[in-house]
Amino acid sequence: MKIGRNDPCPCGSGKKYKKCCLGKEDNPEYLDPQNIPRLYKEMRKKAQFKECIYPDKSCCSEKIIKAHSIQNNKILARISDNGKVYMPAAKPELHFQLQKEYGRKEASVFTGFCGFHDKTVFQPIEDNDFNGSKEQIFLYIYRAFALEFHRKQEVVNMEQIMFSNKPSIVNIPGLMKDGKTGFAMSVNDYLEEKAIFDNALLNSQYDVLTSFVWTFDGFSNFAATGGEAPSLDFESNKIQDLLNPNIPVRHIYISVFPENNKTYAIIAWLKQFDNVFSSIGKKLNEISESEKRNYINNTLPMITENIAIKPSSWDALPEHSKEEFSMIFFGLPDFMEMEGKKFDRFQKPTYDLFSL
Ligand SMILES: [Zn+2]
Ligand SMILES: [Zn+2]
Repeated sequence: MKIGRNDPCPCGSGKKYKKCCLGKEDNPEYLDPQNIPRLYKEMRKKAQFKECIYPDKSCCSEKIIKAHSIQNNKILARISDNGKVYMPAAKPELHFQLQKEYGRKEASVFTGFCGFHDKTVFQPIEDNDFNGSKEQIFLYIYRAFALEFHRKQEVVNMEQIMFSNKPSIVNIPGLMKDGKTGFAMSVNDYLEEKAIFDNALLNSQYDVLTSFVWTFDGFSNFAATGGEAPSLDFESNKIQDLLNPNIPVRHIYISVFPENNKTYAIIAWLKQFDNVFSSIGKKLNEISESEKRNYINNTLPMITENIAIKPSSWDALPEHSKEEFSMIFFGLPDFMEMEGKKFDRFQKPTYDLFSL
């Protein structure tokens, strides 16, 4: 039994499993593979939710807006062609090509802030050039965190919709653990981190991160944010257990953005979890300039779809470079890891996002 009869039903109804989806028939629409593209689109739409993530809701403006996780006027405007950028991010419709065209208004947006908080919280990085202050570093990383947290919740919503239409998925081996899927567990993992971010915001005490700020020469035609919960360090030593539902996993966040004639990369985690990431931190302190570039080039497609790229620059890449990027994006490093091989993030790939 993967779900107890008295456990909360995985469809998210709030009822007990035995009084909800236990023994319920699958929705026949979900059994015909021909319906998948349409159902996928509907599920993605239904899974979207609007909620301001800011801890003190008393000042929230009424409207939850489409907040940019990559700055629109400062960055997207500069890396767009005719108002469009490329992103490998999934669209509500199923697309099978890697890069999709997004208008600036839609690129990298999520409904995780009200208009007031989106404007006021991020003012110090909107209105000022990057100066490396604790506050600015915090805000770039907080925005990356907010997007990750919001997206994870949307994935859980989608799973709940899927479950309520197809309760028989409970029988798929390995999908559920203690009545929860891996995604539902991972939302819980974020809550502890959220409490620390919240507290820092409310008290304007931004010194909660261990961060690496790397500056590269030249304005690059891409920007990205992401997050990951690595189970291994760069020497393949285990640093955390992703499968134990009783121990929350810890995340590393990243934000890369061009500004003026430089490109900045911020890599950070909550200081409180330094013990988990000590060997990673040690290595990141030791690497050369070119290894830093390689690290960013390899890590971004591994961990995030929130990468905006100037279309004409991407189109100009040779085919084999686009293919290498795609293979990393679609999970080559994970596959290698399962096979017991190491994917070396410090090795130079054939593409270079910094010289797009
Ligand atoms: Zn149910
Ligand atoms: Zn708000």
